[in-house]
Amino acid sequence: MQLTRLEIKGFKSFGDKVNINFNEGVTAIVGPNGCGKSNVVDAIRWVLGEQSTRMLRSEKMENIIFNGTRNRKPAQLAEVSLSFDNTRNVLPTSFSQITITRKLYRNGDSEYRINDVQCRLKDITDLFLDTGVGSDSYSIIELKMVDEIIANKEHSRRNLFEEASGISKYKLRKKQTFSKLKDTESDLERVEDLLVEID
Ligand code: ATP
Repeated sequence: MQLTRLEIKGFKSFGDKVNINFNEGVTAIVGPNGCGKSNVVDAIRWVLGEQSTRMLRSEKMENIIFNGTRNRKPAQLAEVSLSFDNTRNVLPTSFSQITITRKLYRNGDSEYRINDVQCRLKDITDLFLDTGVGSDSYSIIELKMVDEIIANKEHSRRNLFEEASGISKYKLRKKQTFSKLKDTESDLERVEDLLVEID
């Protein structure tokens, strides 16, 4: 699976639409301080579903929308699309090209899309689960994360290996199943109480 293209519009410092093609051989983005290099990484993290404003280096989610300059009006919408080549079927879908999109409007409305079809955040999270590409996975490692991995804060090292070895998916499903089981048990208890009352 290869990241092929990033399209950013109205996100942080990118007021105009910017396309970045990750052709073979592209390994780094360079530029002077403050020119927006980290904003490119933030855009990738955001489109993959990041919900933590701290991880996006922003106080609140609305602040990720381009807030204008002296000569330009603020944007009403932030939109980021990320495309992948999936010819090796790493992503569990029959599409050989995948584009995921996330939009956020100033009024707080948001939207996720996979290949231009509206979807839920969960669909995007599920698509990338155990591929190493999710917003909280090891494909995007910032300096602070390196410190956390070294200090093994909140089992971060173990989580990293679990994601890499592909077992996070099963742990998540186990958690969801236990939660369903708990709900069913409490429903059953309620039914038993009702039966006692009826008797
Ligand atoms: P450094 O090398 O110093 O880490 P960088 O190239 O990684 O810098 P970024 O941190 O990506 O730069 O970008 C910072 C710039 O983005 C700042 O000029 C900041 O004003 C701008 N910026 C952040 N959010 C917004 C926004 N919502 N609207 C407009 N500009 C923004």
